[in-house]
Amino acid sequence: MHCPFCSADDTKVIDSRLVAEGGQVRRRRECLSCHERFTSYEIAELLMPRIIKQDGTREPFDESKLRSGFLRALEKRPVSTESIEAAISQVKHSLQATGEREIQALIVGERVMEQLQLLDEVAYVRFASVYRRFQDISEFRQEIDRLEKQPEAPVSPENKPTS
Ligand SMILES: [Zn+2]
Repeated sequence: MHCPFCSADDTKVIDSRLVAEGGQVRRRRECLSCHERFTSYEIAELLMPRIIKQDGTREPFDESKLRSGFLRALEKRPVSTESIEAAISQVKHSLQATGEREIQALIVGERVMEQLQLLDEVAYVRFASVYRRFQDISEFRQEIDRLEKQPEAPVSPENKPTS
């Protein structure tokens, strides 16, 4: 692997470990030329099914969308990055295990909810309450962005602070 700092060809692996429940190999590398250190991740590539959206259009499976769905739901929650990566691996694995070449976006969301329920109850409720109305992770993310940009809602009588 080339050094990302100086592009030298020779880098050596100084540490190697399994992460995300064995789904990834994390390697610390050092450049033999500039001696900078960096991390690489190795993931086995399996073909993911294409996603059938609500409107019937198809799009390639997008892991970054899946990840940002998880990160949104888990924002400020006490869940480690490693646990999130493991959950993402689980979702991908379950989609591959269907053996289907195309899969409904709805199914992906259901798998995400299953994983969130195991990780963090608050994140699960957060995701499920919004997602059920949208049934598409990218729409869900847009909605959360929209809600976050809104000015703070006036305090309703039920949750008025008691002084
Ligand atoms: Zn270098």
